[in-house]
Amino acid sequence: MGFEVYRIKAKSIYTKSRIPGVDYVINQYVGCQFACKYCYAKFVCKWKPYGEWGSWVEIKENAPELARKHVKGSVVMSSISDPYQPLEGKLKLTRRVLRYMDKRNELSILTKSPLILRDIDILKLFRSVEVGFTLNSFEGREKRLIEPLTPPQKSRINALKKLSDEEIKTYAFISPIIPHLTDVESIIRETRDLVDYYFFEILNLSASGKEFEALLRENFEESYKVMTVEKKFWDFVKELREMIQKLGVKTEGIEIHKRGWELIKP
Ligand code: SF4
Repeated sequence: MGFEVYRIKAKSIYTKSRIPGVDYVINQYVGCQFACKYCYAKFVCKWKPYGEWGSWVEIKENAPELARKHVKGSVVMSSISDPYQPLEGKLKLTRRVLRYMDKRNELSILTKSPLILRDIDILKLFRSVEVGFTLNSFEGREKRLIEPLTPPQKSRINALKKLSDEEIKTYAFISPIIPHLTDVESIIRETRDLVDYYFFEILNLSASGKEFEALLRENFEESYKVMTVEKKFWDFVKELREMIQKLGVKTEGIEIHKRGWELIKP
């Protein structure tokens, strides 16, 4: 698959968010080179003339200047891209956005890439900042089929360790939780000393799209059954919840999308 980069000038970079508990989202990139097969952000392809998800990235060239604004409330970076996807290594757009951003803004960054370690010096200047890493334990065949291009989980955990050593607040976003594939318990055991809290999210099958649903059905039949058979699904949620409770970790809850959006408190 080819890959194209499109440069644009944006009007604004802070967008009011409908995500519960999040006031603004900021996306200096739209689109993502990591091209995870389940990515929920692929819906943006409907409004962009560029082609399929993972084959393009739009760059908001003037994002650093637009980031100067002081906004009240929480700001999440990024919701429809990864701010540390490979091209950030050369472009340093995220780094410039952070440098220009009003340091009073309450910033929360979510990524899958250890490249964020490069910017620790700037992160430390913020009055309030946290870094989340998405973890899902995919390895080998699962990883090749589901998210082949992302950094290995081990490197993400090492990055969490470094951030926590630097006294930067961290969290683990355990997502997507796919029955029989995502080893939630081992992720918690490996990271509980490295993160301040957890956020859990069970795969949103409808947002992941028809192609991903087919991939799951054809390659991971048991997982697909749990996701689609009502009783199996709720038994799975119950077991997951009990396991999280037993481990006694600090969490916002388990996000599930089976009947619209629900947040179950463990
Ligand atoms: S890293 Fe995040 S934004 Fe990028 S493709 Fe994967 S899920 Fe989507």
